[in-house]
Amino acid sequence: MSMDMTFLGTGSAYPSPHRGASALVLRTEGECWLFDCGEGTQTQLMKSQLRAGRITKVFISHLHGDHLFGLPGLLCTVSLNTNPDTQEKMNCVDIYGPRGLRNFLRVTLGLTGSQLLFPYAVHELEPTPEQSPEEGRLSLEMTEERGPLHPQERLGSTIQLDVSDDCYVLFEDKKFVVKAFRLFHRVPSFGFCIQEHDRPGRLKTEVLKELGLKPGPLYGRLKAGEPVTLESGHVVQPSEVLEEAIPGRKVCIFGDCSSVLGPGPLRLCRGADILVHEATLGNEQREKAVEHGHSTPEMAAAVARACCARMLVLHHFSQRYKPSSSQEGRDEDSVSELRRQAEEALQDSGVEVTLAEDFLTLPIPLQRPR
Ligand SMILES: [Zn+2]
Ligand SMILES: [Zn+2]
Repeated sequence: MSMDMTFLGTGSAYPSPHRGASALVLRTEGECWLFDCGEGTQTQLMKSQLRAGRITKVFISHLHGDHLFGLPGLLCTVSLNTNPDTQEKMNCVDIYGPRGLRNFLRVTLGLTGSQLLFPYAVHELEPTPEQSPEEGRLSLEMTEERGPLHPQERLGSTIQLDVSDDCYVLFEDKKFVVKAFRLFHRVPSFGFCIQEHDRPGRLKTEVLKELGLKPGPLYGRLKAGEPVTLESGHVVQPSEVLEEAIPGRKVCIFGDCSSVLGPGPLRLCRGADILVHEATLGNEQREKAVEHGHSTPEMAAAVARACCARMLVLHHFSQRYKPSSSQEGRDEDSVSELRRQAEEALQDSGVEVTLAEDFLTLPIPLQRPR
C-alpha cells in the first residue's frame, strides 16, 4: 500500500505569499487525512495534486487560529463540490481535536448558516491542566457546546487520557491504530501517532511445496495467521511457512510545543519512520521560542534522537524564514540554517533531517524488518 505525506502550509502564525499556515495531508490508498487546517488551506489544496473531497478524517493539534481558521471554509467548499446525487461523499467526516472544537464548529457553521451535504462528527480530546500555563486553559463556559447540534452534526465522542499508557486512543481499524499524546504549549496541544499494523511476511513457497501444499485457500489461511491441518494430521504453523513480518510504518506529527509531557510521547513515537516537529525559530532565539511555547531545531532534534526516529521533518517556520527556493531574505534568515542546526544536533544519530516546504510530498516506503 502506498503512503505519502504532503505539506500544504509550513509557516507559523499566519499564511503569507511564501508559506501557507499549518496543514499537511497523509495519504494512503484512496484516503486523505488532514492534519491541522490553517487559513487558506483550501486554496493550497487546490494548488496541490490532492483532492479536498477525498478527506475522510481531520486532526486538529490545538485551537490556535493558524491551525484551525481554515476548517469551516474547507468543509463548506468540499460540500459545494459534492454532487448530491452520488453517495460518494455521504460518509461522515470524523474530526479529532481538543475540547472546544465541537463548539467552535457548531457556532461558526451555525452563525453563518452553512449547510453541508455530508455529516460530520467532532471527537474531543480532554486536555490535562499541565498542558499549558494557567492562562491557556479554556473555561468550561467557552468550550461547552450549547444549543442543538448543527443539522449535519453527528454525536462525537469525548476521549480521555488513558493514564496507564499516557496517551489517547483515537481509533483502530484494519490498517491503522491512531493515538494522540500530550504536549506543552501556550494552549493545550497534542501530537498524533499513526501506526500501521504489521503485515505477514511472504510465504516460503519451497517449504510449502515440501509439505505438499498447493496454492489455494490454505495459503490465505496461513498468511492470515491460522494453523492448517494436513490430511496426514500434521499441523502446519504459520511461523513455519512465513518469512519475517513486514513492520508497519509509523508516522508521528507533533503540534506546536516547547516540550513533550509525560512518558507517552517518546514511548509512542519510538522508531518513527517520520517525525514531524515544529521549529519556529532558530537556536539563537531559544528563549523567545520557549516563551511563546515553541521549539528550535535543536529542541526538535533532541526529541527525534530520543525516539530513534528515521527522519525528522521540520516545519512551522516563522514567516521571516523564506523558502530556500526564494531569492529574498538575508542570509541569517535562511531556512537552510535551521536544517544545519538540526543536523548539528543529530550528528552520529542516524536521523535524517528534512525541511518541509509548501507542496513537498514525502513518500513513506515500507521498511525491511530491522
Ligand atoms: Zn502555530
Ligand atoms: Zn500554537
